[in-house]
Amino acid sequence: MGVRSLQGSVQRRVARASRRLRDGVKRHPNYYDEESRKQLTCEHAIGYYEQKRELVEIKEERPEYQDIASHVLQDVILRLNRAFDGFFRRVQNGEQPGYPRFQGRNRYDSFCYPDGAGWKLDAKEREPDKKGIVRANLRLTKISTVKLHLHRDMIGTIKTLTIKCEGEHWYAIFTCEIGKPKPLPTSYEDVGIDLGVTHFAALSNGEFIDHPRYFRKAEKKLTKAQQTLSRKLRGGHRRKKAARQVAKCHRKIANQRKDFQHKASRQLVNQYQVIVFEDLQVKNLTKAPAPKQDETTGQYVPNGASAKAGLNKSILDAGWSTFTEMVSVKAAWAGRAVVFVDPSKTSQLCPNCRTIRKKTLDERWHSCECGCELDRDTASAKVILDLGRKQLLGGTRPTRETA
Ligand SMILES: [Zn+2]
Repeated sequence: MGVRSLQGSVQRRVARASRRLRDGVKRHPNYYDEESRKQLTCEHAIGYYEQKRELVEIKEERPEYQDIASHVLQDVILRLNRAFDGFFRRVQNGEQPGYPRFQGRNRYDSFCYPDGAGWKLDAKEREPDKKGIVRANLRLTKISTVKLHLHRDMIGTIKTLTIKCEGEHWYAIFTCEIGKPKPLPTSYEDVGIDLGVTHFAALSNGEFIDHPRYFRKAEKKLTKAQQTLSRKLRGGHRRKKAARQVAKCHRKIANQRKDFQHKASRQLVNQYQVIVFEDLQVKNLTKAPAPKQDETTGQYVPNGASAKAGLNKSILDAGWSTFTEMVSVKAAWAGRAVVFVDPSKTSQLCPNCRTIRKKTLDERWHSCECGCELDRDTASAKVILDLGRKQLLGGTRPTRETA
């Protein structure tokens, strides 16, 4: 009897599970069918302004909010509004965005004063010819006066202030409105740039910008910090301390990289009128290579994945897409042009006679029957410059829009 009833209950359970699958009940809680979603939106639509008005009542209900400047609270709603605006914009564009999710308080690391209210900056005049950090006081209503280090002078009018916490560091970020920038005087030099692994960038005039390889250097330190972290027990005070150390290493590396890229991009924009890059999809380059099978035995043979893993690190380290973005933005401000060209075969063509010279990844030298002898990366930089000039003249592809 026991066995039979057990069998029956198992059968019932299986039947229920398959019904659930068929009816498609097992869906994300944020999912509604089209009709009820439309209805819900009509009945419960609530926007930025409604929520802003509700703030008054919320403050009565939850007195702890009275200790926060009102414009800061409004900015929180504005952020939420932006998240939903972005979501609906993507839906309308036919993309498939994820529904905005709730994020816990640990993810919230900044707050913003959207205008001049609620804070005041007392900064002493910088002594002439003196560089470096200036001490200042920042008065925040309902918080207190905090001391801060001003890294540079304010230019223009300050629009917003954001207070941000990164690890154990607190930052005050001011956004200022400044007038239209003056374009740089016209330069008569153009350059093609091949972003690579051996060198960070090879220029078409034969120069190189080398990787600072901060990552590789700092990597040792990071590995050590990570090892220390993994030895600590979960939930302990020492583990937290070790985790902070890891975060510190990451932040250091990120800052060094940003600094290098800003300096390099500034140099390029100052010197050249037209800057040509390959339109690299870095994601494609960092993909793991497909597994290779031996034709006769069917065994898997080395496909260079481990060699590429080392390469991947360098590519990510190099941060090419951020770099091209930086150059684009700086160029737009300076009245200079940035062109992106189709990257296929740029490393295989001979810049002199335009024939294809197939090269493997480890072949570092380009040598052609036409007598063209060049560094591999310089050769592709030259091809890139050629393509860029053609594109500018022929207008076959528009240059990338810049902010
Ligand atoms: Zn040639």
